[in-house]
Amino acid sequence: MIAIWGAGPAGASAAIAARRYGVPVRWIERVRSPGFKAGESLAPTARTLLRRLGVWEGFLTDGHRTCVGNASAWGRDDLAYTDFLFGVHGAGWHLDRQRFDQRLREAALAAGAEWAEDAGAARWHIDCTGRANVYARRRGARRLVLDTLLSHVGVMEEEVLEGESTESTTLVEAGPDGWWYTAPIPGGRRVVAYQTLAGSESDAQARSRDGFSALLEGTQHVRERVTGPWLLGPTVQPANTSRLDRFAGDDWVAAGDAAYALDPLSSHGIVHALQSGWAAGQAMAARSTGDDSWLQAYENRLAEEFTIYLRMRASLYASELRWPEKSFWRKMPLQFDAGNGRIFATLIP
Ligand SMILES: Cc1cc2nc3c(=O)[nH]c(=O)nc-3n(C[C@H](O)[C@H](O)[C@H](O)COP(=O)(O)OP(=O)(O)OC[C@H]3O[C@@H](n4cnc5c(N)ncnc54)[C@H](O)[C@@H]3O)c2cc1C
Repeated sequence: MIAIWGAGPAGASAAIAARRYGVPVRWIERVRSPGFKAGESLAPTARTLLRRLGVWEGFLTDGHRTCVGNASAWGRDDLAYTDFLFGVHGAGWHLDRQRFDQRLREAALAAGAEWAEDAGAARWHIDCTGRANVYARRRGARRLVLDTLLSHVGVMEEEVLEGESTESTTLVEAGPDGWWYTAPIPGGRRVVAYQTLAGSESDAQARSRDGFSALLEGTQHVRERVTGPWLLGPTVQPANTSRLDRFAGDDWVAAGDAAYALDPLSSHGIVHALQSGWAAGQAMAARSTGDDSWLQAYENRLAEEFTIYLRMRASLYASELRWPEKSFWRKMPLQFDAGNGRIFATLIP
């Protein structure tokens, strides 16, 4: 029997994979009816994963919006466009995130995962509790945190005109003390998020609606897309790049944000959660029959992916040169030295 801790995308994916191998799953979640959650852009590559999880047909009926690409003012004042439609995977989506997570949970329960209050007699554990790392920390693992990025997330009303296209883009804009993104989401709403360093002046300012709105006024492009009144927030969430010091232990493995968490700039956290959740479910199912080889391959793969991601992250932040004197732009690119592969990290027990 496997205990899966956490019922976000990684936990659901792990549960479905383990059940495909016939292993009983006890599923432990603190909040069984998820409310509003940031993380609304789903990359086009997700379509293969959703098919494998058996939720593709249902996903298409859930009212998510088609995301045709990104517009970004990064390293430049004007907007550059990336069009997904010319990529091999086609368009992505702007999600109703609550509905998305709920659909995955329903699929895992239909596959035979069972809610539980604790791990009971489960011998094997998959930690999918995000940055909380509830089980891995209990077993002595520690989290390496590379920066102190926070997201201040607001949700605004968005007028949807009759007959208006539901296709949309994500807009990213860099500013002197952080960066913004905004995207429309289903239900006539728009997410507006400001990423800045914890403890900075703009972190303090963005915590209130007035302060957030004043910072928003200072943007060049994002403010033009935000037309409606506030609905929710701003709420503050950790958005740091971080990983566990090891991805597995004697009786456990971590997946999704619990294994490593990406900067929201990557828009890849959900895909990573679905992929690693699936692979962790398979690896633990194999381990429960005495086969450790999948687990070793899993750990190696995650370590490799994280190194590749760090290189991309470092070069992205280093490509914004408009505010060289600002501490945000001095700190963010410097956490990883691609030359010698050294990571400058803080250990959080
Ligand atoms: C501001 C922001 C914007 C983002 N934007 C995007 C985006 O556009 N696209 C994208 O792909 N990704 C985005 N992400 C990242 C994405 O949301 C995450 O990578 C994804 O949710 C990770 O899934 P997960 O299942 O690993 O963790 P989570 O979705 O965090 O799920 C963890 C689960 O564990 C549960 N849990 C916690 N503690 C306990 C406990 N003690 N016991 C039991 N259960 C517990 C939680 O309740 C939760 O249900 C964004 C993140 C942030 C912060």
